[in-house]
Amino acid sequence: MKAAFQNNLLNILNNQWQGMDMNFGRLQGYVPMEKNIVYFRRGNDELSLNITNACPNACVFCIRDYDLGWGVSNLYMDRDPDIKEILGAFDQEAQWISEEGTSIKRVKICGYGEPILRFNDLASIVTHVKKKCPKTTIQLTTTRWPYFRFISQDTAPLRELKAAGLDIIYLSLHALDEEQYKRLVRPGITTYDTNAFSDSLRFARATREAGFQLKLGFIRVGAVDELGIKALAAELDAEYELREFEK
Ligand code: SF4
Repeated sequence: MKAAFQNNLLNILNNQWQGMDMNFGRLQGYVPMEKNIVYFRRGNDELSLNITNACPNACVFCIRDYDLGWGVSNLYMDRDPDIKEILGAFDQEAQWISEEGTSIKRVKICGYGEPILRFNDLASIVTHVKKKCPKTTIQLTTTRWPYFRFISQDTAPLRELKAAGLDIIYLSLHALDEEQYKRLVRPGITTYDTNAFSDSLRFARATREAGFQLKLGFIRVGAVDELGIKALAAELDAEYELREFEK
């Protein structure tokens, strides 16, 4: 009788679990006070670096609107960490991981915000990570904003990042045309970014010219034209990922 009760309970929980989001921190009502510059999302061989909370967009699916972070990580920082703090946090976590006998397969430079806003720090971060962990793949996850506005009109700075050791650019695109982009990503500084979607495509081409592996990111919100995504990815010589909306 007791075993049957337990099995029933497990079934109920499992069924509930299927329909619920996978964010343990929110689910358990537990989010630590300590703010995380480095966090794990998909396993202990993959680190993410939270280098900024600033973002010029207001995506309709943004996790920041309803949670403090992924899993049990608290990603809302009081201020953006300086470069010394970022590298120090990475070194400490890398040390713990290597003491456990695990090697870091991938480092993602991202943020609870848009990491390209800290473009001037990116090469130093990449160089440092590559020096410490030469076999690690390094990815920048970005919407590319505001590359063409404030950083450069050409690919030279991107080539410098490539030379520093950045391997992959994950371009969070989410849309197949300007209207859809404005509706889903809602680029905030509209007077500067009226061509947000076409600028994203321009950036995608620039990353390929600079020699990066390119991955396009989409989130499934409402009806999704997966054939259109596939065609665009093929045209840009990129891979793509269509993720479920996790809430
Ligand atoms: S770009 Fe990222 S951080 Fe910024 S609003 Fe969109 S999902 Fe949120």
